[in-house]
Amino acid sequence: MMKINRYNWKTMNSKEKETLFSRSEIDIKDVQESVKDIIKQVREKGDTALLSLNHKFDKTPLDMKLRVSEQEFDQAESLLSEEVKKALQYSIDNVRRFHSSQLPEAMKMVEIQPGLLVGEKAIPIDSVGLYVPRGRGFFPSMLYMLSIPAVTAGVRRVCVVTPPDENGTVDPACLYAAKLCGVHEIYKVGGAQAIAALAYGTESIEKVEKLSGPGSMYVTAAKRLLYDQVDVGLPAGPSESIVLADGSANPQKVALDLMIEAEHGSDSAALLITHDSNLADNCERIIKELCAELPEPRKTFVEDVMKGYGGIIVTDSLEESAEVANLFATEHLQIQTKEPFHTLSLIKNAGEILLGENTPFSIANYAAGPNAVLPTGGNAKTWSAVSVRDFIKYSSVIFSTEAALNEISPHVECLADYEGFTTHGDALKKRRK
Ligand code: NAD
Repeated sequence: MMKINRYNWKTMNSKEKETLFSRSEIDIKDVQESVKDIIKQVREKGDTALLSLNHKFDKTPLDMKLRVSEQEFDQAESLLSEEVKKALQYSIDNVRRFHSSQLPEAMKMVEIQPGLLVGEKAIPIDSVGLYVPRGRGFFPSMLYMLSIPAVTAGVRRVCVVTPPDENGTVDPACLYAAKLCGVHEIYKVGGAQAIAALAYGTESIEKVEKLSGPGSMYVTAAKRLLYDQVDVGLPAGPSESIVLADGSANPQKVALDLMIEAEHGSDSAALLITHDSNLADNCERIIKELCAELPEPRKTFVEDVMKGYGGIIVTDSLEESAEVANLFATEHLQIQTKEPFHTLSLIKNAGEILLGENTPFSIANYAAGPNAVLPTGGNAKTWSAVSVRDFIKYSSVIFSTEAALNEISPHVECLADYEGFTTHGDALKKRRK
């Protein structure tokens, strides 16, 4: 009989809260030693290590080529149905439209006092490496969610790493999506070894300035170990979601939406938070019915999540439900309440917020427009979804006229003297003389 965790927020003990709130991110320490060894191998042996690790973890031929060839790109298109190609084009168009709206002005200056112009110059990061996972599913959607903001930002070199299958080939939908996004540099390598290759470079993979993209605990562990070698970007780990609902919600729709993120893997989290125990009971029953019909391995993943990092939390009020959701700071939040826009005003922490029963996680994950690569593990308290901004940095720009310099100098000299920085003050005083 399937088990679904049921908690009452008021009586939940601190151990239960800690387990739920730390979710599977905590398991990363279990793989750190083996990931350290993978990184060492890649650093010391480059491509040779990549080929042998590919063989070990992904059962690939040892003599495979790491870079996807032009011929493979061309073949990919012929392997896909017209329907899949159309769906990819449709989704990519929406995602591109949304991300184009995020482009900042290349240069912004304001005259903050007469003759003193200050501002920022937006400069795309020179090279980025995007991790597209494959272990538990194909992710062409991840490919366009990561590539579109990078290409839109104007990054000169956008490359992708993704695990190959046993024949040493990459998912054709990923290759087709890459072509539509204008990305031509793809390497057939996944896991911690791919992250190490992007951070240090190998004979065939040039190192990059920044990484982006979610992955398994091996990928996350590698990023944590390499954070001082390369910009590791957004902390995106195992998927997690909350459906926040009240008594007005349709239990069938809540149950369906709750299972969406749970099907990513046993380490995902999927919680229903509600102050209506009738809704909780009905959802519990419907999830069990729906789960029985799922094919493997999705059935096992959903079952594991519901007795692991997921389940149902019953609170005393809508306000308390929102408070629990804010504490959890989930990656995906869906609100199915009578007045979703009012509930929105109670939310402070969530990677994305979907309003109402007609906005399930699925449409946001693929085609609504905003990015589906979102902060996990509580990082939504300080991080945002992947965006064009992730691939742009800003240089401050200042221009002063002589009159403005004369006006500002006495104040700067005073503060420089106070801090004991003689040269700073002298540079102004001696210039005047
Ligand atoms: P993955 O590509 O991250 O991992 C597969 C790779 O892990 C393999 O290619 C292999 O090289 C390596 N590996 C496998 N077993 C190993 C071992 N024992 N030791 C060392 N390396 C090993 O794909 P995945 O497993 O499907 O993980 C994807 C993750 O990304 C999931 O947790 C999913 O929830 C998450 N995800 C997150 C988002 C987001 O926006 N946050 C979106 C999509 C997916």
